Amino acid sequence: MPSDMHVHTTFSDGRLTPEEIVAAAKAAGLTYLAITDHDTVDGIRHLYEAGLYPLKTLRLIPGIEFSCEVDGHDVHILGYDFDIYNQELIDKVTELSESRWTRFAQMTDKLQALGYDITETDVLAIAGTSRSIGRAHVARALVKKGIVPTVHEAFTELLEYGRPAYIPHFRLLPEEAVALIRQAGGVPVLAHPKLVRDDELVERLLALDFGGIEVYYPQHDAADTARYKALAERHGMRLTGGSDFHALPHREPKELGLFTIDDTLAAPFFHPPEALE
Ligand SMILES: [Zn+2]
Ligand SMILES: [Zn+2]
Repeated sequence: MPSDMHVHTTFSDGRLTPEEIVAAAKAAGLTYLAITDHDTVDGIRHLYEAGLYPLKTLRLIPGIEFSCEVDGHDVHILGYDFDIYNQELIDKVTELSESRWTRFAQMTDKLQALGYDITETDVLAIAGTSRSIGRAHVARALVKKGIVPTVHEAFTELLEYGRPAYIPHFRLLPEEAVALIRQAGGVPVLAHPKLVRDDELVERLLALDFGGIEVYYPQHDAADTARYKALAERHGMRLTGGSDFHALPHREPKELGLFTIDDTLAAPFFHPPEALE
């Protein structure tokens, strides 16, 4: 049976609500599903408070994905199976979302100063319920306003590092993200190591208190998967994997259930908060 341990919802930059993700996961016949929104646990808390977590039909694992940066390399850190009401975690994600808030406003200010007709309201209209407004939302607003033809060009022309509307980001250090997940009772996992684009840095990062490596990932080819599997085994870490599904038309996989992992990899992370309904 298939599982997926890396999925985004409208609470970060995904296009489906947690309810829609749950419905899609059931339709795809998934056993375990981890919602791993960027810098927030509001998606799974929303399901919990709506009486949709835990579920008998789908085994939900609380997750989160922190974006860190080391020497210009993107380092994403997944956390699983933690207390979604842990105060320290909530305080830190609140701080991160508040800083994202000011960052996106700084971006629209900068774009306006550059002569582009885009406002905070335009970005908020795109962001909807998302608590972690990011560059992707600004990029989509720029496309919607006809300022650039594609999201890709919004990044390469305006928003990425070195471009005129770039604003630096408040992020956690990898050691802070790992410690934060641990103190909330969770397991930190190094996300998609290939996207770090530096295997020596990956090796150095594994000196931190990680519990797993995301070995199975759409952008890992067979050789990458074998290399990171061997690395996880050498460090005595769990193997995880997931689709990084966003429900975005330009991004693979296009459907939940097209990229999955074996249930046995997800099962050790499953500890439901109370008896199943
Ligand atoms: Zn990531
Ligand atoms: Zn992700």
